[in-house]
Amino acid sequence: MQSAEVSPQHRSPLEYMREKMAQADSMFRSGLSAASDDADIIDLARKMLALCDEVGQELHRICPVQPLACHSGCDTCCRNLIQTNPVFAALGLAEARRSFDKDQFSMLQDRLASETLFCPFLFDGKCSIYHSRPMVCRGYYSFDVELCKQGEYSEKNMGYQGDGAHAAHQYMIFLFVLEQRIESIERELGLDSGPVFLHDAAHVLLVTPGALGLWQSGRHGLFAGPDVKA
Ligand code: SF4
Ligand code: SF4
Repeated sequence: MQSAEVSPQHRSPLEYMREKMAQADSMFRSGLSAASDDADIIDLARKMLALCDEVGQELHRICPVQPLACHSGCDTCCRNLIQTNPVFAALGLAEARRSFDKDQFSMLQDRLASETLFCPFLFDGKCSIYHSRPMVCRGYYSFDVELCKQGEYSEKNMGYQGDGAHAAHQYMIFLFVLEQRIESIERELGLDSGPVFLHDAAHVLLVTPGALGLWQSGRHGLFAGPDVKA
């Protein structure tokens, strides 16, 4: 008698995403509970994004999409106030500390200390923390940059399309649901969940000693900058 198990090659996109969502849930829940310092939380954020990358690549294999308009140096979607989860703001700042030279880091500090209408990690039209960029940045896609310029990211009037959707749409849905899942886990653990504005959170992390530890110990309102309070 043949096994009823579905081979990885024949999983539907929805089956695959459910499986990876369960894996991501378990990874985040156990990783955050066990984290004992900032490095653990940043490492957890990095692992979560690595899992997202894996999901994105597999979705492109099982439900390919026509070429997107997105390319390096296309920055309209970065000229917004980006919202994310505190753990990904911490990873972005850690990446900047690791890879920026003194002048660039000084420029980032200035940006974080002032009002900004675009992402502080955007330098010369490019993402300076590309491999550590938050999940929301990974979900944006477009077939027509002119629509992005009108504020229409992804595809206009596209609802949920189940198994029939293409990889870019499936991936956007996966990331959206995972962000919600992460917030829910944080709330269960008594933490202030996202979303927070990336620039506000990065600024607090930069100027407040032990900010990530305070957040993990249950301090509320830590990352709520002027944009969140408004
Ligand atoms: S979503 Fe739009 S603005 Fe962003 S990279 Fe893609 S085409 Fe460019
Ligand atoms: S983190 Fe990078 S990809 Fe995301 S908005 Fe900022 S510059 Fe753009």
